[in-house]
Amino acid sequence: MTTLQLPIVSTCSVDGCSYNHDHDCHAGAITVLGGTSCGTYVSLDADADAGVANRAAVGACHRSDCVHNEKLECQATSVSIGAASDPADCLTFAARG
Ligand code: SF4
Repeated sequence: MTTLQLPIVSTCSVDGCSYNHDHDCHAGAITVLGGTSCGTYVSLDADADAGVANRAAVGACHRSDCVHNEKLECQATSVSIGAASDPADCLTFAARG
């Protein structure tokens, strides 16, 4: 079995997400979509106590124009998620020069 070292979601300020507990994301892994929005976000109506992980990893990221992105995987040590242009954006995104 191969062990992948995935980046962690160090903090998430999206209080309206079911996976968010005290600004920690408890999903097993998230996917960041093309607009840098978190594709794993789900409103509190779904399950106010969602997730079993202590801290989510970034499983995949579709932002190939980010300096941290390699083959649609994030190579950053950790990322922060919060409101920017979308209510749940990757705040660690940095455009390639
Ligand atoms: S830092 Fe860049 S590569 Fe990593 S999840 Fe955020 S947008 Fe994707």
